[in-house]
Amino acid sequence: MTNEELWQAALASIQLQISRANFATWFKNTSIVSQKDGEIVVSVPNGFSREWLQNKYNRLVSHAIHDLTKGVREIRYEVERSSASSSRSDQGANGRSEQAAGEAQLTLADFRISKSTNLNPRYSLDNFVVGPFNELAHAASMAIIKNPGQVYNPLFVYGGVGLGKTHLLQAVGNAISSEMPDKKIRYVSSERFTSSVVAAIRNKTMEQLRSLYREIDVLVMDDVQFFAGKEKTQEELFHTFNTLYERGKQIIFSSDRPPKAIPALEERLRSRFEGGMIADVGVPDFETRLAILKTKAQELGVSPSEETLGYIASHIQRNVRELEGALNRILAFQRLNGEEPSFTEARTLLRTVIQNHGRQANPQKIIRAVAEFYDIKEKELITASRKKEVVKPRQIAMYLLREELKSSYPFIGERFGGKDHTTAMYACQRVAQELLASEFLVDEMSLIRQRIYGN
Ligand code: ADP
Ligand code: MG
Repeated sequence: MTNEELWQAALASIQLQISRANFATWFKNTSIVSQKDGEIVVSVPNGFSREWLQNKYNRLVSHAIHDLTKGVREIRYEVERSSASSSRSDQGANGRSEQAAGEAQLTLADFRISKSTNLNPRYSLDNFVVGPFNELAHAASMAIIKNPGQVYNPLFVYGGVGLGKTHLLQAVGNAISSEMPDKKIRYVSSERFTSSVVAAIRNKTMEQLRSLYREIDVLVMDDVQFFAGKEKTQEELFHTFNTLYERGKQIIFSSDRPPKAIPALEERLRSRFEGGMIADVGVPDFETRLAILKTKAQELGVSPSEETLGYIASHIQRNVRELEGALNRILAFQRLNGEEPSFTEARTLLRTVIQNHGRQANPQKIIRAVAEFYDIKEKELITASRKKEVVKPRQIAMYLLREELKSSYPFIGERFGGKDHTTAMYACQRVAQELLASEFLVDEMSLIRQRIYGN
């Protein structure tokens, strides 16, 4: 296996396990520059990347590599020597690796996002599988496509992560855009809306922003749970909503929870969210999971055996994105070996994806994972130490006990050196708040969860 093939296959598996943004940030412009005597050297563009890969992603990289090739003992990260000289990095190792990273992403994001609508044509209704778990949301969407602004307004779709909300919302946008080309459609994530409001306040360009949004015929706004606590953004959205609504324009929202479960949401906005049709998306049953797998396999150009598909569908139950992740592993194997994996090979290949599911957390595992992640002693984490560097990790551990195990506050307080339940409650609230404000913490949290469930 050449350096490039190996790295490409490793990237294909890594990208399934971290967010798209993280993948692009940390794995862009990386490549394997040598593999010799059990040591692999990965070239990275700068010292910051090296730190990050070394400290946060090394495990992930090692796993990915070990899945593909035997006999690797060590992986080293080296800052690319020629990165200062732009002429070389244009075509040299840099250019190649960018291509590698790009290709690994091909299966997931090989479409151009439209500038005017911000929609990704990859999401269509043709490749959206409908089953009992999402038929209400789907039916409402179909009605809207026929008569935007006339039937369900707003449509509020909610459900857990990776269950197809974004896909459905974007597919509605794409369908309207192709059937009614004169309609102005705009897809916007709530993060993006928030940052444009913040920028408009700073640059005193609020009027422009308002008029931009108020010209829209179909506004699709994804993940509105992120508006929690963002007062100024909520206010802007409220006014935009009213203007559009009065003019009979269609508005579609998605969220990971129903409106009444979004914390720190202004009452008047909540009642707007609830004012039209609310449709939930649940978890697909076995038959639908199998149907989704078959659709995706066809899209990706792989045809795993019924046995393999059945195995995946029965083990991955709660997340469509993970079903895709499993297929992508099979695709990576096929690209490398020129043939599809046998059932036994497929099972080995899917080990990491699937094992995570059977794994359960317990307080001990959570405490260990947090301590390891922040490189502090478990004992310090669970005693009354007031050292500054343990305060945040301790709060995070408390939060995870609450979130992952639904532990009671008194239990959590007790577990952390006999503290009062109010201390535990405060810690959990603190972390929950911080998570809304810091993407960095969100990433840390997901890495800690990987540790809890991954071993
Ligand atoms: P959410 O926004 O709910 O977190 P996404 O819409 O991003 O989930 O879906 C995750 C992945 O699963 C996407 O790649 C999407 O295409 C796919 N997917 C989800 N639901 C379906 C479905 N019903 N049919 C086909 N693909 C689906
Ligand atoms: Mg989404």
